[in-house]
Amino acid sequence: MFQGLQFEPVSLPDHAEALRSEVREFIERELPPDYLRNSDFNTGVSAEFSQKLGAKGWIGMTWPKEYGGHGRSFLERYVVTEELLAAGAPVFAHWIADRQSGAQLLKFGTEQQRQTYLPRIARGECYFSIGMSEPDSGSDLASIRTSATRVEGGWLVNGSKIWSSGAHQNHFMITLVRTEPPSANRHAGMSQFMIDLKSPNITIQGIKNLSGESDFNQVFFDDVFVPDEMVIGEPGNGWEQVVSELGYERSGPERFLSAFRVMVEFVREVGDNPTEAQVALIGRLTAHLITLRRMSVSVAAMLESGKTPVTEAALIKELGNSYERMVPELIRQLVPGRTSLRFRQTLEECILHAPSFTLRGGTREILRGVIARGLGLR
Ligand SMILES: Cc1cc2nc3c(=O)[nH]c(=O)nc-3n(C[C@H](O)[C@H](O)[C@H](O)COP(=O)(O)OP(=O)(O)OC[C@H]3O[C@@H](n4cnc5c(N)ncnc54)[C@H](O)[C@@H]3O)c2cc1C
Repeated sequence: MFQGLQFEPVSLPDHAEALRSEVREFIERELPPDYLRNSDFNTGVSAEFSQKLGAKGWIGMTWPKEYGGHGRSFLERYVVTEELLAAGAPVFAHWIADRQSGAQLLKFGTEQQRQTYLPRIARGECYFSIGMSEPDSGSDLASIRTSATRVEGGWLVNGSKIWSSGAHQNHFMITLVRTEPPSANRHAGMSQFMIDLKSPNITIQGIKNLSGESDFNQVFFDDVFVPDEMVIGEPGNGWEQVVSELGYERSGPERFLSAFRVMVEFVREVGDNPTEAQVALIGRLTAHLITLRRMSVSVAAMLESGKTPVTEAALIKELGNSYERMVPELIRQLVPGRTSLRFRQTLEECILHAPSFTLRGGTREILRGVIARGLGLR
């Protein structure tokens, strides 16, 4: 039944805001003065930087201390993530593990999995990929064909995953597989396995994106053995588990800040003498940004109280991704006559990455479907 969308107004508490200057000082100290990178979480990778963040206690912030976490609130985590993104810090190595894989292990993993992997993730030493999409199954995730068959002590996995971000440099992939053949209930018979990406019989092939970088991959599994202790949750419960991670995956500031650096550089570029059109654009983009941020902070508070705000998260992602695609497009049309190399590099890189913003993590059309269902319209 339709419960209504909930976006309670939430202010970041003082103890969360107090972290902001600490994070800014850390960034200023750790990144070179001429550092320039877009605010896209998916690009910069630095194990060294991730480990320094781990040492500060800024990975696994909300997890219990007994698993290497820091028992802090989602609102404190929010401040840390938005500052790192705004600076374009190289966070991708640990990003998925911190954002959703760790939360999955905490919620569905065995005690042994939690004790073994969560502290390593929190130290910034252990990185995860998401293994959902397949060559013929993206939006329609329930149609996956990668399968696992029972063998002594575990499972044999066969099939292929695609667009697997960071699989070439990460340690594990939480992989959605069919452990039973498809049936009338399309969501039944799936399971999540934690697969060691260095296992025998795995082939990882890079795929080039528009800008010529190879940050995602196709991963082939050819009789890959996965021991029972690497199954996450109950076999057959995969769909429910995947759905539960979407609240984490879709609602954070990375869903509307990817083009933030372009905006900052644009403001710097137009300086003290902006045209009327430039002023109007900066005002419009800022107003959108503030609204999206308020919605996203509100969802962080829902996560804090243990809710699963799937519809609200989908709405933030849909609006946020549309926004971050619009930013470089509108700014491009009002570029001043002479621009700095710094500004051009930022804008050009963002333009090449922007088409992916509305694909990764679920396309706009799919999100609109989720929102419509959440509103009771379908
Ligand atoms: C940069 C990037 C990183 C990614 N990283 C990962 C990753 O790490 N792990 C992972 O598992 N996946 C990853 N993905 C994959 C991403 O989740 C999929 O691309 C996405 O789910 C869409 O699937 P698809 O590409 O197969 O497109 P399709 O599902 O084939 O869709 C094609 C088009 O049809 C539309 N469409 C499909 N079904 C419907 C429908 N029912 N109603 C209306 N329109 C529809 C879609 O909106 C889209 O426009 C990544 C993608 C990108 C771009």
